Amino acid sequence: MRRAMARRAARRPPERERARAGEVVDRLERAMPEARIALEFKDDLQLLVSVILSAQSTDARVNLVSPALFARFPDAAAYARAEPEVLWPFIQTLGLFRAKAKSIVGAMRAIEAAHGGRVPRERAALEALPGVGRKTAGVVLVHLGADQAFPVDTHVGRVARRLGFTRERDPDRVEERLRLLVPRERWGQGHQLFVWHGRRTCTARAPACERCVLEDLCPKVGVPRERRGTSPRPTDPSA
Ligand code: SF4
Repeated sequence: MRRAMARRAARRPPERERARAGEVVDRLERAMPEARIALEFKDDLQLLVSVILSAQSTDARVNLVSPALFARFPDAAAYARAEPEVLWPFIQTLGLFRAKAKSIVGAMRAIEAAHGGRVPRERAALEALPGVGRKTAGVVLVHLGADQAFPVDTHVGRVARRLGFTRERDPDRVEERLRLLVPRERWGQGHQLFVWHGRRTCTARAPACERCVLEDLCPKVGVPRERRGTSPRPTDPSA
């Protein structure tokens, strides 16, 4: 017990880093009070399906195909009865559509068999569903309001690294670090804000540091010199 507490204390980031992370979330929230998940869904099941479909596809593309899919498959039982191929025509404009169809049907069969047709609200049960990994489970839990998570997708990971919060590339490790930096009650909101910031400003190819609200807080790790703003470069805190 004492050893576990000592390990946790040793991993705890310095106070100044936690303060900087808090300021980052504050500023992003002020800049984007409207930040919310862009996927369109009406219930837990539609949320889960949309999140599975969104892997390596934009939310806008998912929103284009999901209404017809949701109309054809109104509940878990309808998906569970289908073979994955039946879903293909509905989602074939999305990348990895065969694998996604297989994941959705597999998840729905498990939901029918073990959860009475309802999406489970516990992380372990969600992650046990076919095709549902840690990130998908985290996003679903955050938007169900069922548990706190800081899911790490490509945007969250990139923004966290450029901000110098981590050097890790493994999403689980990035999430672990962000969880230590940001208070638990802000994890879900922090996830959403990092996603929006990564899409709008801190984009993969062309980060717009000169108009970024975090410019003076950010060491811009890995950002080409010509893209950085005008403030003196803060020390890379992860160095
Ligand atoms: S200052 Fe540049 S690198 Fe840092 S978060 Fe903003 S856009 Fe990204």
